Amino acid sequence: MSTAASSSGPSSATATISSVATSIIPPFQPASDFVPAELNGADWEALRPLYTALVERELHCRNCLQRLLLDRSELDAAASEAFAILYTGMTCHTDDAAKSKSYSDFVERVQPELKRIGFELDKKIVNSVFAKELDKGRYAVLLRDLAAGVELFRPENIELQTQESKLEQEYQTLIGAMSVEFDGKVQTLPQMGRYQELTDRAMRESAWRAVAKRRLQDAEAIEALFDKLVTLRQQIARNAGFASYRDYAFKARRRFDYTVADCSAFAEGVLAAIVPATRRLTGERVKALGLEAARPWDMAVDVRGRPPLRPFSGGDELFERSQRLFNRMDPGLGELFAVLKDGSSLDLDSRAGKAPGGYQMNMDRKRVPFIFMNAAGLQRDVETMVHEAGHAFHALLARADPLVSYRADIPIEFCEVASMSMELTSHPFLDEFYSSADAARAKRVHLEGIASILCWIATIDQFQHWIYTNIGHTRQQRRGAWVDLMKRFGGGADWTGVEQELGSLWHRQAHLFTSPFYYIEYGIAQLGAIQLYGSYKANPKAALDAYKSALSLGGSKPLPELFAAAGLRFDFSPERITSTWAAIEADLAALPA
Ligand SMILES: [Zn+2]
Repeated sequence: MSTAASSSGPSSATATISSVATSIIPPFQPASDFVPAELNGADWEALRPLYTALVERELHCRNCLQRLLLDRSELDAAASEAFAILYTGMTCHTDDAAKSKSYSDFVERVQPELKRIGFELDKKIVNSVFAKELDKGRYAVLLRDLAAGVELFRPENIELQTQESKLEQEYQTLIGAMSVEFDGKVQTLPQMGRYQELTDRAMRESAWRAVAKRRLQDAEAIEALFDKLVTLRQQIARNAGFASYRDYAFKARRRFDYTVADCSAFAEGVLAAIVPATRRLTGERVKALGLEAARPWDMAVDVRGRPPLRPFSGGDELFERSQRLFNRMDPGLGELFAVLKDGSSLDLDSRAGKAPGGYQMNMDRKRVPFIFMNAAGLQRDVETMVHEAGHAFHALLARADPLVSYRADIPIEFCEVASMSMELTSHPFLDEFYSSADAARAKRVHLEGIASILCWIATIDQFQHWIYTNIGHTRQQRRGAWVDLMKRFGGGADWTGVEQELGSLWHRQAHLFTSPFYYIEYGIAQLGAIQLYGSYKANPKAALDAYKSALSLGGSKPLPELFAAAGLRFDFSPERITSTWAAIEADLAALPA
């Protein structure tokens, strides 16, 4: 399948997309003609004169400022699309040294320049006397975000952030290099994951122990690397005038609409409503498997000893079946999904020389989404496909906005509502992939997964709060804090004899290393997605109409307003979590074990 990354010119997919004349996909005109169509956004020498012209441009009135915002938007979109083309190119062809070099050249040479000049522009806009004259309804979110960036920016932090990126990369390298010799061959850790689904318990245990042993080999190195990251981050925060990195991170992540106290409330709610559910499910698992206790290697196997689900074979089949699923769910969403096929926006199949995982990325100038995944015919691939489709719907529905920040910088807490709710609303249509018995099994796997991920989110989030508010802690204390959290939020597996493994379990959560404080977003979004599923069951058309109109707002409104537009409450109090979770409990009760 061809990819956006392999198209060299910036205009190749535009014609295909705009020729799809449909009611639901908003048409668009480029926001300005300031940026030549053929500009190479990967070349700093090409970008620089345009950015410099914007910084030096004299502003005489409110309209001048609005024009500057539009011109900048188009220029930012060109640079961002260049990055997206390089990134998709690299992840689709990890074995192509030239692609990987062009990507790292951009990261090392162009991105720091973009940061510096971007700050100059942010400052010019925020400090302009005409900023106050702009329409608040339209520009308040943009100005608020720019002001936060200006407030946080310190030139001396650029160097520290580069060091931080290097340490983050070191972590990726350490983890990526882990492999074990097992079952007669050298295997990567993701490959080892498959053994956890085997019905042979002894095999599961020895696979689990082989992986744990390999991880422990690097435990000291990972702890040392993490110490360095924490120290560096505290310095970055202090340079920016913050006493704690947590306060800095909240502002840097644009958390204007929820607080540290809300994160604690989320954790309390998970503890009250969801931890008991996961422990009950583990209890049922123990009983069904005829065990005395569930060990860490007993958590992924099918309790009735059935082989793994095989919903499709190959990316084309995955796409066609998903197309039928969305056509039935909602004709408008079906139309949006069909656009992906026409726009060379997909690279679905797993193959050698491709990065792991899945993502959706916008081509900001052409305003088309791109979906990357490693489909291997598994149940979770179906979840990933409908998940990434939700992100793509978001991109397509918001594409008419002339400002790239409103098209692309949408709060993650709401982006993940767009995607996670599709995982749930696809439940009634899973017969496109499965027999009815298998569909019921796929639904159960998905819902049980939501229970455990919510507990894991609370654990990871609370751990980060602990780390960055207990300055000067020892490794021993950190480990103690982690184990305490695992005791509170864990799903009831028995870790006797593998305490060392338990104590360093957090080493595998990349966000702690590469995106500090980024994780509770998934929990907030999941609560929104469950609510949307609830309103979908009550009135499918009204729920999906609200979903689509909320998505079309992009990032132009504050987070609570985006939730409200979709008919959702932005509330993660224990009471709300308990009542939201009840809907999932009802579904679980109706499904066969
Ligand atoms: Zn997502």
